Amino acid sequence: MTSVPAATSATRKSRPQTNLTVLRREQLSPHMVRIIAGGPGFAGYVNNGFVDRYIKIVFPQPGVEYPEPLDLWEIRETLPRNQWPHTRTYTVRWVDEAAGEIAIDFVIHGDEGLAGPWAASARPGDALVFTGPGGGYNPDPAADWYLFAGDESALPAIAASIESLPADARGMAFLEVDGDADIQDIAAPAGVELYWLFRGGVPAGASDLLVTAVRDSVWPGGRVQVFAHGERGYMKSLRGVLYAQRGLERSQVSLSGYWAKGRVEDDFQAEKKLPIGQI
Ligand SMILES: Cc1cc2nc3c(=O)[nH]c(=O)nc-3n(C[C@H](O)[C@H](O)[C@H](O)COP(=O)(O)OP(=O)(O)OC[C@H]3O[C@@H](n4cnc5c(N)ncnc54)[C@H](O)[C@@H]3O)c2cc1C
Repeated sequence: MTSVPAATSATRKSRPQTNLTVLRREQLSPHMVRIIAGGPGFAGYVNNGFVDRYIKIVFPQPGVEYPEPLDLWEIRETLPRNQWPHTRTYTVRWVDEAAGEIAIDFVIHGDEGLAGPWAASARPGDALVFTGPGGGYNPDPAADWYLFAGDESALPAIAASIESLPADARGMAFLEVDGDADIQDIAAPAGVELYWLFRGGVPAGASDLLVTAVRDSVWPGGRVQVFAHGERGYMKSLRGVLYAQRGLERSQVSLSGYWAKGRVEDDFQAEKKLPIGQI
């Protein structure tokens, strides 16, 4: 890992640190693993009111000596940036307050990276340290219908959003995954159609399925609210579809890159802060 951890405008107060322990790991599909974590640190986890709530999981750099117990905010005040732990951003799929557990669904995308490979082999007892949650989206009750679009990185956020809708909600969701074994159960209202798009071996981030499906879909009348997230190139193309082709206003759309093909998250997040990285 040669990249420098990304800068952040978050603070200890806006994004407190939580230290949990992995309780169990579930294989949800060939390309997705769920980690369920809890333990005494759960008492300090403060939920926010957003359905797309996300956390920054902390990965200490090998070879750097950190203070014990690990305190990300203290490290950021005392160590040079090139020694800060790396962080990776993940949606909180669900929180079970009574059991004191949270679930995070990780895309398993090969041997590269920190978080994907970590989740693939995480075991009960492993530490899960993170800051957050952040977030910014909730379904707008005033919308006539809802459109969701994403690849598997956004599946946890889209699934949580769909499951938060009222029973009479209407909408459609375009979900790009590798194949039919990657379909997940989502408790969707009857009026929300799920369209699973299969890449069939084409690498994630290199397909035009998602963009084509949204572009060519037949929309009902009324005011739509859109939640579209996933690979950065997909999102750039979808921006054109949603604003130029469909004429939507910014206030109707939540759209962002969740990852970028060929780039580690540190570089991708750093780029997002530059004019060239804005979608
Ligand atoms: C707000 C937000 C919420 C997110 N929620 C989730 C979530 O719930 N679950 C989830 O799995 N991801 C989620 N992501 C995306 C996740 O943060 C990135 O995929 C991240 O890059 C994974 O880190 P890594 O250490 O595994 O790989 P990195 O070290 O960042 O990258 C290593 C290599 O893997 C590639 N890569 C990274 N992600 C993928 C992928 N999904 N598919 C194929 N190749 C990939 C990169 O392009 C790079 O070449 C979210 C991102 C954001 C911004």
